[in-house]
Amino acid sequence: MQTKPHFFASHHFDRMAHRRDQDTWLEQRRNSGTSWFLPVAASKNLVFEGPPPTAALLTLGEVDMLSCPQVYLGEYKERSCFALLTEADHAAGWPGTVFQQVLRVATIIDTAEASLLAYARAMSIWHRNHRHCGRCGASTVSTQAGHVLVCSNPDCIWQQFPRVDPAIIVLVSDGERCLLGRQATWDAGRYSTLAGFVEPGESLEDAVIREVHEESGIVVRSPVYHSSQPWPFPSSLMLGFQASAASSEIHLRDGELEDAGWFTPDDLAGGTLIRLAPSVSISRRLVDDWYLAQTGRKLEAQDAPPKAW
Ligand SMILES: [Zn+2]
Repeated sequence: MQTKPHFFASHHFDRMAHRRDQDTWLEQRRNSGTSWFLPVAASKNLVFEGPPPTAALLTLGEVDMLSCPQVYLGEYKERSCFALLTEADHAAGWPGTVFQQVLRVATIIDTAEASLLAYARAMSIWHRNHRHCGRCGASTVSTQAGHVLVCSNPDCIWQQFPRVDPAIIVLVSDGERCLLGRQATWDAGRYSTLAGFVEPGESLEDAVIREVHEESGIVVRSPVYHSSQPWPFPSSLMLGFQASAASSEIHLRDGELEDAGWFTPDDLAGGTLIRLAPSVSISRRLVDDWYLAQTGRKLEAQDAPPKAW
């Protein structure tokens, strides 16, 4: 199914993976006055406070930390972009900036910059979580411009690659109603499509059928792929599906959901009965597309205006 790109997708920039082993070219780009550096401290990206906030894309003259680990992200607006993996207490070096969770500013800042920040954040977390070899415990060394971590033990040299965790997310419908659920920790009234991680040895379709049955007791058939969204918080890839229900009685079987229910298009309109997931999410896209197919109308946005931060 053709859909417009999802939020956090990377079509805004060119990853230029073939350049990752070209050390001379990378060094030239690092020392170029036009390249951009994106400081990341653990899970937080550096942003200018604004208002409005913007991504901190710093040039060589603005950074004095090139000894920090770096990850070549690719080319954006004809500039080379490097994530600068730093520590939170270095933020004071840049006036007017703050380290911030990208999800808090994603809908306020430029969409392409939000994607770059999310990508940089995912690489930062991966580096922090893979400082040692999972086989022998020796330290790892960053290679391929930060995209491969190699064990430093010459008898091991195990390679680790950035982790991506596939998760299915599915709009289940019985023809007139859609199935939504909520977890106990969510904001009051918020409901979403059902989702869960794919397990080893499982197809995406298997995962859809299993997750829906585990969480709601509903039997579904013939899952159909819809679209995918990177959700690098820290490493998920959401694989969206639509599926038809072959049963209707809900049983919360695995305790993951606090509540689940069937909702008509009228239940969704207006945002008074329940609150849906934010517009940047594939969950909301799945609901929007189902609502449009049912009614011929677009579902109104429910997002609250961005809060001051
Ligand atoms: Zn090793």
